[in-house]
Amino acid sequence: MSKRLRVAVVGGGTGGLALAQALHQAGVHVSVYERSRLRTERLQGYRVHINPHGSRALHECLPPDLWRAFVATCGSPGSSFSFVTEQLAELLRVEEELTSGPARDPVTAHHSVSRITLHQVLSAGLDGVLHHGKEFERYTRADDGTVTLHFADGTTATANVLVAADGAASRVRGQYLPHAERVDTGVRTIAGKLPLTEETKRWLPTQLHTGPNNVIPPAGCGMFVAPHELDAEAPVVNGIGGNDGTFAEDTVLFDNTGSYVMWAYAADHTRLGPDAELSAMDGAALRDLVGRLTEGWHPSLRRLVADSPEQSVSLLPIRTSVRIPRWETTNITLLGDAIHSMTPFRGIGANTALRDAQLLARNLIAAARGETDLLSAIHDYETHMIDYGFAAVRMSRRTAAQTVSTNRISRSMFKASLRMFSAIPPLKRKVFSDLGSK
Ligand SMILES: Cc1cc2nc3c(=O)[nH]c(=O)nc-3n(C[C@H](O)[C@H](O)[C@H](O)COP(=O)(O)OP(=O)(O)OC[C@H]3O[C@@H](n4cnc5c(N)ncnc54)[C@H](O)[C@@H]3O)c2cc1C
Repeated sequence: MSKRLRVAVVGGGTGGLALAQALHQAGVHVSVYERSRLRTERLQGYRVHINPHGSRALHECLPPDLWRAFVATCGSPGSSFSFVTEQLAELLRVEEELTSGPARDPVTAHHSVSRITLHQVLSAGLDGVLHHGKEFERYTRADDGTVTLHFADGTTATANVLVAADGAASRVRGQYLPHAERVDTGVRTIAGKLPLTEETKRWLPTQLHTGPNNVIPPAGCGMFVAPHELDAEAPVVNGIGGNDGTFAEDTVLFDNTGSYVMWAYAADHTRLGPDAELSAMDGAALRDLVGRLTEGWHPSLRRLVADSPEQSVSLLPIRTSVRIPRWETTNITLLGDAIHSMTPFRGIGANTALRDAQLLARNLIAAARGETDLLSAIHDYETHMIDYGFAAVRMSRRTAAQTVSTNRISRSMFKASLRMFSAIPPLKRKVFSDLGSK
C-alpha cells in the first residue's frame, strides 16, 4: 500500500523535515523540496525552546539514533524560568521540576537547542529524500488528483499528496488558500546575543545565564533573556564556526558550537520610530537604540546589550496569521507556519509545527497501510491542527500585546499576581505545571 502514496513536502524546515523523517522511517514514499541551496542558508543561530509537545513529536518522528543525537546536542534549558523587574528583582521563579517532573525524562522534558543543530539532526539520513535548490513556484492538478509541482529551475515533480511546509510566506498557501492572511501586529523585536565565556560569566549575574528570564519593566515594552549553554562534552553536529566558546566575526549568526545568552527587546512600533528608519539601521544602530530605550535599567542588562556583537543584532517585525473558516479537505494540506504562523512570544511556533508533523505523519502512515482512506486521514489531521494551531496563534498574540502594553495599571496587577504565585507554592504549581505544554 505504502508504495502507492507519494507525498511531496514543500519546505525543508522544522515541520517539513520532521514529517519526512517519520514517513521515510515508516517506508512511505516522501520527497522534500527546499529552496535553499545549502543546509545553512537562511538559518540563524538562535536557540529554540522545545517544549514537551515538541519533544514527544521529535521522539516519535525521528529514528532512535537521531533522537539520541538530538538529546545529546541540546544545551541546558536552565534550572528555572523567572520573571524579574528591569532592576532584576525577582517576581517569580518557576523551577524546572515543576514543568518537567522530578525524574527528567527527555521525551517529556523541555530542551534548548540551536536552530542550526536542530536542522542538522532533522536533515540527517534523508539522502535521496531532501532536494535542495528547489524553489517551489506553483502547482497544477490533473483530473485524477495527481499534483504537479513546478520549480523555479524549470523542473517539475508529481505526487498524490502535497504538504505545504514552506513557512510563514508560503507560496503553496498563496495558491491554495489565497484568502488566508497574515497581519502586522505592530510589535517590533530587536534581538542579539552575547557569547557566554569565562570572561562574560564573571560580570553577568548568575540568574541571567542559568535560566530564561522574562524582564518586566513598568510598561510599554519587555525583554526576554535566555542562555544557551552547551555541555563541554556535548558532541557537535557538523559545527560551523569556532569551538572555543567565542565567535568569529563572520560566523556570529551561524555558529552552533558556542554558548551564549540571547536577548530580545520588544515594543510597539510607535515607541521605536518609523519602520523605514528602523529597517535602514544596522546591528550597531539597533543595539544603540535598545541602549537608549533601556536607560535606568539594571547595569548588567544594559551591558548584556551593549557588549553583544553588532553582527548578532537584528530587527524582527512581528506578524501573525488570521484564522480562516474551515475549508474542504483535498489531497493538499499545510503544516506549521505555512498555515498558523504566530508571534514568537510564547516560544511555541516550532513546537506546534512539530506537533503537526507528528499527527499528519501518523494519519498518512495509516492511510498508506490501508487502515483509513486518504481524505479521512487528512481531514482528521486538519480538524485537530486548526483547533490547537489557532489556539496557539491566539495565545501568542495575546502575550505579544501584553508585553508591549502601555497600561501601567494592568502591568502592576500582572506583577502583583506573579508575586502572589510566588508566595503561595500550591497555587504556583497549579498555574505553572503545564508551562510551555499548551
Ligand atoms: C526569533 C525567533 C525565535 C523563535 N523561537 C522559538 C522557540 O523558542 N520555540 C518555538 O517553538 N518556536 C520558535 N520560533 C518559531 C519557529 O522558528 C517557527 O514557528 C518554525 O520554524 C516553523 O517551522 P516550519 O517548518 O513551519 O517553517 P520553517 O522552519 O520556517 O521552514 C520553512 C522552510 O520552507 C522553505 N521555503 C520557503 N519558501 C519555499 C519555496 N517557495 N520553495 C521551497 N522551499 C521554500 C524555507 O527555506 C524553509 O526551510 C521562533 C521564531 C523566531 C523568528
